[in-house]
Amino acid sequence: MSDLRSKTKCLDKIPKGPEDLPVWNYDGSSTGQAPGDDSEVFLVPRRIFKDPFRGGDNIIVMADAYEPPRDIDGKHTDMKPIPTNTRYACAEVMKKAEAEIPWFGIEQEYTLLNATSKWPLGWPECGFPGPQGPYYCSAGSGAAIARDLVEAHLKACMYAGVKISGVNAEVMPAQWEFQVGPCVGIDMGDELWMARYILLRLAELYNIEVTFDPKPIPGDWNGAGGHTNYSTKATRTAPGGFEEIQKQIAKLEKRHAVHIASYGEGNERRLTGKHETSSMHDFSWGVANRGASIRVGRSVPIDKSGYYEDRRPSSNLDPYVVTRLIVETTLLT
Ligand code: ADP
Ligand code: MN
Ligand code: MN
Ligand code: MN
Ligand code: MN
Repeated sequence: MSDLRSKTKCLDKIPKGPEDLPVWNYDGSSTGQAPGDDSEVFLVPRRIFKDPFRGGDNIIVMADAYEPPRDIDGKHTDMKPIPTNTRYACAEVMKKAEAEIPWFGIEQEYTLLNATSKWPLGWPECGFPGPQGPYYCSAGSGAAIARDLVEAHLKACMYAGVKISGVNAEVMPAQWEFQVGPCVGIDMGDELWMARYILLRLAELYNIEVTFDPKPIPGDWNGAGGHTNYSTKATRTAPGGFEEIQKQIAKLEKRHAVHIASYGEGNERRLTGKHETSSMHDFSWGVANRGASIRVGRSVPIDKSGYYEDRRPSSNLDPYVVTRLIVETTLLT
């Protein structure tokens, strides 16, 4: 993950939507996505954001990637998504589940590193800061590290049209979180990837490295998660909403292993059962329980409706994969 790439195209006209934009291509042999003798990968524009770096009429376009159309023995074949195009399957599933209006909100945790030493930003050189406790939601030098980058990111996401809903300093110093959502269906993946892209671009300006590794520092330091909050029309509707949530959780329990296998690389280093996580080998849920796989908010049994939080995905989750699996399991099986 975090293999985010882009290139620039100058246009003669201002597009109104992604359908006004040309299909483009790139050299897939330079990204390990195509052989050199047939190197073109096609880029299909899907979503337009305002460009917070260039301003004005400039835009940033989220595109997904396809093999070129082929003419085999006079039979024209449509473009096939390349294997790493996880957006394609996600969009299909979201279309099927459209009537249930699935909402998502992802909490993206990340860690800032000194770009040269690769050691967490603001930590003593070759040493450790004081133990965790004072850093979460903190203020003050040495506690809240690189707030200027975090604030610039919040502002840039708002300008771009990413539905960012908050930021906070995390438990481990140099670790932060931003939340994107609630977003409907496929928008969750598009918007989270764009928020990550903007963060990487801004961090270039500060010469800071961003890592989405689920456990950047082993030992008594919190890992980084990608908690995925979820609701559907039925869970949001009282009085049956809480019951519907419990039915959905029962389905998630049955497919625990399938979800865990796709919830982020290296997640086994994070889901140990310590540091506000559940063990990856067990499935559990509870109201207000931060040591469970799934947490249901305190207000849900009272309101008899609402949303719940899948705490298993790691910070390097692919939101297209995670949101697809959640919808498949809870609505389409
Ligand atoms: P936590 O208490 O776990 O730290 P946060 O406040 O960081 O939670 O994040 C909560 C996320 O849940 C936000 O991204 C928010 O947009 C999202 N959210 C709020 N309401 C809903 C809902 N009804 N369905 C899905 N997601 C929701
Ligand atoms: Mn060239
Ligand atoms: Mn949070
Ligand atoms: Mn958090
Ligand atoms: Mn959370």
